[in-house]
Amino acid sequence: MRKKIVAGNWKMNKNYNDGLSLFSEVLNMVKDEVRGEQIVVVCAPYIHLNSLSALAKDAKQVFVGAQNAHQEAAGAYTGEISSEMLSSVGVRYVILGHSERRQYFGENNALLAKKTDAVLQNNLKPIFCIGETLEERESGKYFEVIKSQIEEGVFHLSADDFSKLVLAYEPVWAIGTGVTASSEQAQEIHAFIRTEIAKKYGSDVAENTTILYGGSCNPKNAAELFAQKDIDGGLIGGASLKSRDFVDIVKTFN
Ligand code: 13P
Repeated sequence: MRKKIVAGNWKMNKNYNDGLSLFSEVLNMVKDEVRGEQIVVVCAPYIHLNSLSALAKDAKQVFVGAQNAHQEAAGAYTGEISSEMLSSVGVRYVILGHSERRQYFGENNALLAKKTDAVLQNNLKPIFCIGETLEERESGKYFEVIKSQIEEGVFHLSADDFSKLVLAYEPVWAIGTGVTASSEQAQEIHAFIRTEIAKKYGSDVAENTTILYGGSCNPKNAAELFAQKDIDGGLIGGASLKSRDFVDIVKTFN
């Protein structure tokens, strides 16, 4: 059975104290809500990671994630953080290829392939993001865009390494806009992604791959999205900054 995940992406929000408060609230509220194959991940800014990992140490199904990592192991890369450093403070997941990284920091599929390798080499799990822009959706070439994002970003991996990956479909037009993809639109893409994985790695790997939906996901629309056959949870931006909203999304699994 594949894992069901609700992951929060705080982006560049919350100072140190506010981050600790938010995470402590979430931990308290979710401890009786996650069970079986369900997992909660909180992807926070770097400054929080050490403290949040310490708080989550005994929470079996709650993990801490980063939002990026550098592709090299170490060296003269001022301002950057390596996967090994993340691992050393107890981080377990790393978001890679978020559309904001692609758009504002020029990250492309070739670079993301290298980052994926670095993350996996340090026994961390990438949450690899893909998704089309509004223009790409309207021009009808979104299947092509998504296919090349996965082919060039992660299809170089062995089946063994690929199985450690979580994918997140985040249509750029739905991120932070309040416009959610309809459950049919999201399911269509998730099914497409799973088919592409099956073609490359076989149906067992495809059936075991967790594919999250992200983009204006909130407590009201989460249940319908997560009920779709190929949607295995969500990557939550804005709603992860309020403990009640985030935990209400986690609860829609039950
Ligand atoms: P919103 O939930 O704020 O639309 O953000 C989604 C996202 O980018 C998560 O990575």
